[in-house]
Amino acid sequence: MRAREYDAIIVGASFAGLAVARELRGEVLLLDRHEVGSHQTSACGTPLWVPQALGVGESVLQVHRHVVVHAPSRTVTFDLSDAPYCTFDYGKFSRGLLEQSRARFLRTSVIWFADSAVETTEGRFRAPCLVDCSGWQGVLVDAANEGVPPGPAKSFGLETETDYRGEALYFWANPERFREGVAWLFPTGRGSRVGLASYLGRTKLKGALQRFVGDLAASPTAYHGTYFPSGLGAATAGRIFVVGDAAGHCLPFTAEGIRPALYFGQECGRLLQRVIERAMSLDRALQEYRRRVEAYRWAYRLLALAQWAVIHMPDRWLGPLAEFAAHPRIMPRWWPRYSRFGSLRAPGLLAGTLAKGRSTA
Ligand SMILES: Cc1cc2nc3c(=O)[nH]c(=O)nc-3n(C[C@H](O)[C@H](O)[C@H](O)COP(=O)(O)OP(=O)(O)OC[C@H]3O[C@@H](n4cnc5c(N)ncnc54)[C@H](O)[C@@H]3O)c2cc1C
Repeated sequence: MRAREYDAIIVGASFAGLAVARELRGEVLLLDRHEVGSHQTSACGTPLWVPQALGVGESVLQVHRHVVVHAPSRTVTFDLSDAPYCTFDYGKFSRGLLEQSRARFLRTSVIWFADSAVETTEGRFRAPCLVDCSGWQGVLVDAANEGVPPGPAKSFGLETETDYRGEALYFWANPERFREGVAWLFPTGRGSRVGLASYLGRTKLKGALQRFVGDLAASPTAYHGTYFPSGLGAATAGRIFVVGDAAGHCLPFTAEGIRPALYFGQECGRLLQRVIERAMSLDRALQEYRRRVEAYRWAYRLLALAQWAVIHMPDRWLGPLAEFAAHPRIMPRWWPRYSRFGSLRAPGLLAGTLAKGRSTA
């Protein structure tokens, strides 16, 4: 069977894939096994400026001006007034980004990649520019490496929705109950997302999460969970661009993966658009993308070190360290750099027109 040709094929239509797609104006195919915005795996907490900059501010559910960390010996409050965070509606956020793109979306599972063609349950597609945004599984990277791991180290998170309401973003570092990671509660207006993350990648977290939700006197609903990386992987695999969790872009320690996926997705998309316009060669774009990602490797190493230290340090140090980081003379030294990382481009004036021009599968 002859493969249909495109300028670019993007596998995965979540944060990374949508960020790439909204930068492209050629014949672009966007593939995902789920409808866009229908399969949430995240607590969807991010700096408020992110949905605002991307033109999807209507997806915001609640704004948070404080982070409260419950450590063994004390509770520490971080003041986020300068750069508040928010929780958002995954469906609205994702569909809003899709509206800004003119890619053709096709719901299908990608099975394999061989001879520069992407094999899916809906047939075979071919393009000179390929982008793997398929999350921690990295389906194209896996095929390009002929199924040989290892990718970056992985954590595992499990989450449920409850009716518990609150104001801040809450974290618990409580080694007595859960030694190997953190618990969180992110209010979303009418309820909250409550979860546990194992930095060691342990997946059997349901019992611990049920006990934790029980301690809050809240009622869990459905559960969702998945792996997320905690170390930067390779930005390219052969002639494939790799973005988001597939490339280990999720930040270690804080487990913020949405903002890096969007930022590196945007950078990748801008370079690819130049390739499509024949203003840059594919090899040059791959090289430049690798360079832009590698510029952050030191930051990933620092956060990976913080993650390692939190698991291994004596419990009694956790509270004082959190207090030190939140101190009004210390926090301004690191917080602005962290919370502002990854500037994102507003939708172009053409966004509405692009949506009208987008073909559907
Ligand atoms: C419980 C939990 C809570 C989290 N909370 C936060 C948070 O509050 N804030 C934050 O910043 N980060 C959070 N993260 C991390 C964040 O969710 C990820 O880093 C982020 O989703 C990465 O985006 P992505 O687009 O790279 O991958 P994903 O969001 O994983 O998307 C990958 C896409 O690829 C598709 N796909 C995969 N395989 C195939 C295939 N074979 N064929 C077709 N399609 C395929 C999937 O359907 C999916 O749509 C959390 C993670 C977990 C597990």
